[in-house]
Amino acid sequence: MITREKCAALDAADPLAAFRKEFSVPEGIVYLDGNSLGVLPVRTPGRVQQVVEEEWGRALIRSWNEAGWFEQPYRLGRRIAPLIGADPAEVVVCDTTSVNLFKVLTTALRLRPGRRTVLGDSAAFPTDLYIAEGVTGLFEGARSVLVTPEELDRHLDADVAAVVLSHVDYRTGELLDMPGITARVRAAGALMIWDVCHSVGALPVELGASGADFAVGCTYKYLNGGPGSPAFLYVAERHLAAGPEQPLSGWFGHARPFAFEPGYDPRTGIGRFLTSSPSLLGQAALESSLDVWEQADLTAVRAKSLALTDLFISLVEGLDGVEVVTPREHARRGSQVALRHADGYPVVQALIARGVIGDFRAPDLMRFGFTPLYLSYTDVWDAAQQLAEVLESGEWREERFSRRGEVT
Ligand SMILES: *Cc1c(COP(=O)(O)O)cnc(C)c1O
Repeated sequence: MITREKCAALDAADPLAAFRKEFSVPEGIVYLDGNSLGVLPVRTPGRVQQVVEEEWGRALIRSWNEAGWFEQPYRLGRRIAPLIGADPAEVVVCDTTSVNLFKVLTTALRLRPGRRTVLGDSAAFPTDLYIAEGVTGLFEGARSVLVTPEELDRHLDADVAAVVLSHVDYRTGELLDMPGITARVRAAGALMIWDVCHSVGALPVELGASGADFAVGCTYKYLNGGPGSPAFLYVAERHLAAGPEQPLSGWFGHARPFAFEPGYDPRTGIGRFLTSSPSLLGQAALESSLDVWEQADLTAVRAKSLALTDLFISLVEGLDGVEVVTPREHARRGSQVALRHADGYPVVQALIARGVIGDFRAPDLMRFGFTPLYLSYTDVWDAAQQLAEVLESGEWREERFSRRGEVT
């Protein structure tokens, strides 16, 4: 049986332990929701303040050139690239995941003019499905078909233009086989689009080596970019070289935005996927968190993530009314653990009242994210202990824990 003392020994030997001082984890809180909104890096307020007061406040319009504002979406893309196994020229930071998915999925349909089906996962994060509906609605005869990842191969026929899948399922934490699926989708003549929102910063992602065509992802979850921080998109070099057309042809994607020409002439390279002025305050926050991420070894992050989730699973399995939904196999697990409980919502609220923050996804999943840069083994032990006490005491039955907010 693992003890708290044993967890403390694991913490003492943890090669990533020094990263915790880079993050403002509130006193008395065990934060298991970094898969939804990552915690604030200690250096971020200073960097944002500097951009506000100096670059905006004093230098004003001159900062577009002098502080490199114009280059910022590219610079950040180059820094995200190693986290997702991409070349620096294949990634740009802009807009949101949904908007970027709209751009790359529309591009994909245009690249496969004879094909009209988009396959998606019926259990996907719904915004991806909504965008697929919206995009297929713009193409005559196109349709969005929802399948489970297991059924995918049966549906890969000559009408499939593109497949959109999440690398890690946002509810169950299941990790899909990116290289295997990508190879089968491409062999069927379709284009593979990965949503890496729940894997970037959680484990090494290998878009290039997998042969992925496109990818999108957000930066406010495992990457600690802050609420609503800008997303990124990836386009494989072989497509960029052919000059693909994306639908949101705004001035930042133009070859000469400051020539103010009436006709659209896209930039070469990944820049043609830009649309508008970058949100520079959000990008400044992301820039400072990437300063921390740049020092992290993703292999060590993955090893600790698996150790933390293994530990949590071993401590909570067998608790009354709890079913572990996340796969036990390492090769099929992301960096979160989902527990099914018939009263998951009030149980999570009672746990939050005790200082252990997880979240809930309808109808009955309690979700716990594990972020190796700022979580310790003793944190995990304490969280499991608190969950056991909440369930044993039945305190979650108090009426106040059943009141639901707008965000669960
Ligand atoms: C968090 C998340 C998003 C977020 O989309 P936004 O447009 O950035 O709000 C999209 N897809 C998945 C799979 C996510 O987990």
